[in-house]
Amino acid sequence: MIREEYDIVIIGAGASGLMLAAQLDLKGAPGIILEGSSVPGSKLLMSGGGHCNITHGGSIKDFLYAYGDAGQALRRCLYRHSNLELAKWLDARGVDLADENGDPLDMSEGPKALDGAGRIFPASMKSRDVLDAFTAEASRNGWPIRTGAKVSGLESTDGWKISLTDGEVIKARSVVIASGGITYPETGSDGSVLKMLKALGISIKEPRPALAPIYVEEYPYADLAGISLPDVTVTVFGSDASCTCKGKAAAMKGDMLFTHEGFSGPAVLNVSGYAEAGEKIRFSYNKELSGLPKRMQRVLTDRARGDSGDVRTTVLASLLDHDDFIIKSIDRRGMVTAGGVALTDMDMRTMSVRGFEGLYVIGEALEAYGITGGYNLQLCWSTAAAAADDLIKAG
Ligand SMILES: Cc1cc2nc3c(=O)[nH]c(=O)nc-3n(C[C@H](O)[C@H](O)[C@H](O)COP(=O)(O)OP(=O)(O)OC[C@H]3O[C@@H](n4cnc5c(N)ncnc54)[C@H](O)[C@@H]3O)c2cc1C
Repeated sequence: MIREEYDIVIIGAGASGLMLAAQLDLKGAPGIILEGSSVPGSKLLMSGGGHCNITHGGSIKDFLYAYGDAGQALRRCLYRHSNLELAKWLDARGVDLADENGDPLDMSEGPKALDGAGRIFPASMKSRDVLDAFTAEASRNGWPIRTGAKVSGLESTDGWKISLTDGEVIKARSVVIASGGITYPETGSDGSVLKMLKALGISIKEPRPALAPIYVEEYPYADLAGISLPDVTVTVFGSDASCTCKGKAAAMKGDMLFTHEGFSGPAVLNVSGYAEAGEKIRFSYNKELSGLPKRMQRVLTDRARGDSGDVRTTVLASLLDHDDFIIKSIDRRGMVTAGGVALTDMDMRTMSVRGFEGLYVIGEALEAYGITGGYNLQLCWSTAAAAADDLIKAG
């Protein structure tokens, strides 16, 4: 039974769904956000450890590399709806911003305000302030949010029919998929909508956790938990034949962190989307032994001892240069999802799905994702803004 009919239905009240609603005035037309969980924006609230690293400083032209292979496809969308636009939008709604040192950004300076800012946060360091700005504007634009409305089916017949788990069916002229990825399923992002899209014949790249800690066989560093190292090169060697870089799936230089169970920190998180269980991961510490923390020096020296107990200097040197392990697993609790709706199926100017009239996909539900540093929320903003533009044009 069809209970209600809408012009536009947004599935998901996460960052991207709310950013879209905040940029699209319904002007009295019927529209609704359907949110399966009981609370909107759970993942946005967790972001940046609750501080919300909303975007990154510098020119938007320098963002493309952060999305790897997807950077070029996202170019137009990012350039048109940039970090500067997002920062100005928040500033105009009373959310003061600060750089990663906590120094306030003066948005009256225009693009200069973002020069060298690095990671950008609300000056209050509270993700709640960012969430409140988006929900307040969405509400001003006439969008109701219906929580506890879990979508269980999607059908394209004379517009769109959306089934809810309680049996209700809702009709819509346009549907925006803003349902996120598969990680942190307790926030409501469980990949269920991606399965529905696949059943419709839309290409879905297998979703898997990314920006996640990596666990290895015979991990020797449990006692170093909490120690972080700068300027480490982390390389993963994927089995994926499509890998472009001479047997390496990805390499990243930056900070790494030892945990009780495995490797974490930005350099590790940023290559995790390319890592696969059973494959090799390499750490090159880019330092002399004496440049490492004392506790690590001890562990490395012990690992370089031969049967007689002598330290083999060549083994020690090779551990410093290429400390190799076999990957046991990648933590399911990745900060984002690699995989999702294939960009090749998308019209990247409008974020609509080719061949499916009135169907849009934005945010983390897309195949693209960025490295740590605010690039994922920027992706949500830019894709949401592009879809909003097209929906405004469509009237
Ligand atoms: C711990 C953590 C820290 C992070 N920190 C940062 C950071 O500082 N900076 C940054 O840029 N990125 C960060 N990210 C990533 C960023 O938060 C996400 O990429 C972003 O929130 C994704 O937004 P989204 O709206 O696309 O998806 P989500 O936020 O996942 O929202 C999707 C929504 O859709 C709903 N939904 C799903 N399926 C259904 C269904 N069947 N029916 C109805 N509703 C449904 C979900 O309940 C959810 O509310 C972090 C992520 C995590 C987990």
